[in-house]
Amino acid sequence: MAFKNIPKPNELAQIGHKPPLMKGWLDTPVDIRTGVFCYAGQPKNLEAVGLPNPRKWAPTDDDWQLPDNWKEIFLEGMRERLDKYRTFQIFMDICVRCGACADKCHFFIGSGDPKNMPVLRAELLRSIYRREFTFAGKLLGKMAGARELTPEVLKEIWYYMFQCTECRRCSLFCPYGIDTAEITIIGRELLNLLGLNIDWIAGPVANCYRKGNHLGIEPHAFKDMIDFFLDEIEGVSGIRPEPTFNRKGAEILFVTPSGDVFADPGTYTAMGYLMLFHQLGLDYTWSTYASEGGNFGFFTSNEMAQRLNYKIYAEAKRLGVKWILGGECGHMWRLIHQYMDTWSGPADFLEEPVSPITGTKFENAKATKMVHLVEFTADLIRNGKLKLDPSRNDNLRVTFHDSCNTARGMGFFEEPRYVLKNVCNNFFEMPENTIREQTFCCGSGSGLNAGEDMELRMRGGFPRANAVRYVHDKFGVNMLANICAIDRAALSTSMEYWVPEVGVTGLHEMVANALIMDGEGERTTDLRGEPLPGFEEKEEGEEDV
Ligand code: SF4
Ligand code: SF4
Repeated sequence: MAFKNIPKPNELAQIGHKPPLMKGWLDTPVDIRTGVFCYAGQPKNLEAVGLPNPRKWAPTDDDWQLPDNWKEIFLEGMRERLDKYRTFQIFMDICVRCGACADKCHFFIGSGDPKNMPVLRAELLRSIYRREFTFAGKLLGKMAGARELTPEVLKEIWYYMFQCTECRRCSLFCPYGIDTAEITIIGRELLNLLGLNIDWIAGPVANCYRKGNHLGIEPHAFKDMIDFFLDEIEGVSGIRPEPTFNRKGAEILFVTPSGDVFADPGTYTAMGYLMLFHQLGLDYTWSTYASEGGNFGFFTSNEMAQRLNYKIYAEAKRLGVKWILGGECGHMWRLIHQYMDTWSGPADFLEEPVSPITGTKFENAKATKMVHLVEFTADLIRNGKLKLDPSRNDNLRVTFHDSCNTARGMGFFEEPRYVLKNVCNNFFEMPENTIREQTFCCGSGSGLNAGEDMELRMRGGFPRANAVRYVHDKFGVNMLANICAIDRAALSTSMEYWVPEVGVTGLHEMVANALIMDGEGERTTDLRGEPLPGFEEKEEGEEDV
């Protein structure tokens, strides 16, 4: 019972946006509430990746067992990052507190908590910056918006840095281009210097570092799961794909989030990948070592994100492939497009990706050598290389959720829509101010998709769910498509809570349902085993038309 400890949707939707503060925010102490925070990182997970101060602690403890010189560590870390990242220095200096970002954050919209306004979230750190690093702050103190870093203030910073999904929606509306997500990233880095991570991030990071994927799946279990998908595909289509694993000399390395291999509804998306690649006769291999596209290191520190990202390239080198094809993921792509080249690139040991089916050169992937499967599939469709029967998806009335990372992080708006419109006949957009670059976060990204913070997640998921509710009521939408593994997991829960009439699917599940494969048998069910349109069981007494 995922929702047993949180209010019912009609109660949670009663959100007051009037600041409850009787005093100024600087004088209002933090109230760390159950249902909003995630559990602390376990010592074994911090130890696995060499993070400092591993110990058992809980956010509700009075004493967080910090090192004696914790303040010095935090401030020195801040000083280093002000020197290293010009953006951080600028974002600390130039906010004019105009408030244009204030009502753009899904956590503020869903909670009404003023400290979830992006401007105020950033002020939590900025107030320390002013006190320690500016003349005015040192001289005028509170009058200049400065405050001292105390244990209570540190707790407040922790609480709100883990109520930001680093989605960057607020930055879109800031006239100065301040990116609060970058401030959160630095904030979390500083907290990690003191051993203040959450376990839903520390656990996956440790797993990924030791075993290649966030879920800690061993190579044989990874392969067993794919074998299970092959059985399912054979049952549905009569065709059994023959994927290879860790094969040296393959042309392409395929990497996708482990959520696609182990969690519904991502598993159906993974079946879609297998069917598409089989139909194309693609010379590709899966890796059971680089078996994770996502990167929870990104929610810990730049260094950790680089460490986890690099394994994909190390594996591509080991296997001697030409280029990398990536599945439906969110943060994998933001990292590849915005950070990878600076961290470890360019990947000169690989070749500029060329589709072996259409001959299209993916010049956009010249440096990273990594192509998103959705652009690969869009190119196949555009060149008439796929036989598709969109009527097989006629039981679905579909809308599309732009993932923050692929949409705002990559400008990836049209390709998924192009694919979607070719594999289904009933597509409906959500309101304009909730899609494309203005998309709302699923509410559980950046490592917040835990069970214990369900109230926070449902509050943060409210704006997206509200837009889904709108198209459900207006157009009868019953399926929410997306191209991100975290979205598939997070939106399934948030739909169950807010709009239970709507299911969640990956794009390539729909592609595979519509795909006419050479030599396939008559298909009567979709990949979930549900009857395809025209093959529903007749009710008693009902006649053929
Ligand atoms: S929109 Fe930009 S300048 Fe205005 S308050 Fe927000 S972060 Fe500051
Ligand atoms: S990045 Fe997203 S979650 Fe974070 S403050 Fe901005 S809108 Fe809110």
